[in-house]
Amino acid sequence: MGDPARTREVADGVWQVCLPLPMRPSIVNVWLVRAGDGWTLIDTGMHTGDSLAAFRAALDTVGAPTSAVVRIVCTHHHVDHFGTSGPLRELTGARVLLHPLEAERAAAARDAGGENADFLASHGVPPAPPEKQMPAPSRFFGNLFCPAIPDALLADGDEILLDGDRMLEVVWTPGHTPGHCCLLLHPDGVLFVGDHLLPKITPHVGVGPGGPENPLGDFIASQEKMLRVEARLVCPAHGGVYDDHRRRARQLIDHHRVRRLVMLDLLRQRPLTAYEVALDAFAVSAGNRFQVLAATSETLAHLELLRREGRALRRVDDGVVRWQTR
Ligand SMILES: [Zn+2]
Repeated sequence: MGDPARTREVADGVWQVCLPLPMRPSIVNVWLVRAGDGWTLIDTGMHTGDSLAAFRAALDTVGAPTSAVVRIVCTHHHVDHFGTSGPLRELTGARVLLHPLEAERAAAARDAGGENADFLASHGVPPAPPEKQMPAPSRFFGNLFCPAIPDALLADGDEILLDGDRMLEVVWTPGHTPGHCCLLLHPDGVLFVGDHLLPKITPHVGVGPGGPENPLGDFIASQEKMLRVEARLVCPAHGGVYDDHRRRARQLIDHHRVRRLVMLDLLRQRPLTAYEVALDAFAVSAGNRFQVLAATSETLAHLELLRREGRALRRVDDGVVRWQTR
């Protein structure tokens, strides 16, 4: 059996800690940053016994007692990033920091219901019998998601002074989630990117009921923002460290540009619902409810941006939203 706590120093006093996840992707990286006698933890993993054991083993590896972790800064509220913030805050006594839009969502996730039938019907998604529907997040994640109430809220441009000479600059990067933040360690130039700039996969960017109207526009603007950041090492939440964040940001901008073109081509044939576009553009099987819902919301993000770019039109007939070319 391999050691679940894979912990290694990627820069002076900056440690990558690979924590296991009970679902795909199967690993999330959290980061321990030393400054003076104190440590800052970036992201927390999902709340499982394996993950907690791996985190404790990582603290042993770096030689830090639990009380040496003085703050926990999270990139966003998703369960693999913020899910253990409650228990880890109790374990370490650290202060927990998160963007207010993420704190709001973490709190709302507790009471959120299951599928929003009206929203799905309006975008052409066929109804599913109750046993095939996606459950409410609280039921789906249960004890895996134990969020802390943050002790302080992050804002774009904040400078978090660590002990010693180090400082973490907050770079607000909405898109994957509305309050997602990257963190730039000064003076080292180490950039923690959460899910914003993953080396191998693209994060989900979707439109949902009650969420931002143009998340893909936000995401692309946030990639352009990264082009202006100076960094020498990139630390993503999934996958290995790498060194050219600008190249990856340009790739992601391009990826979504091509995907918009593919969707525009589909609309040239006839007006379509987001669901119809999604089945084609993402090649998902109509029987996989999770994939269908994720692809439909991601498709909506692209269609809405096409509309704002003046390339697609949105029509509502009998409560059903269809998209067409101009
Ligand atoms: Zn995420």
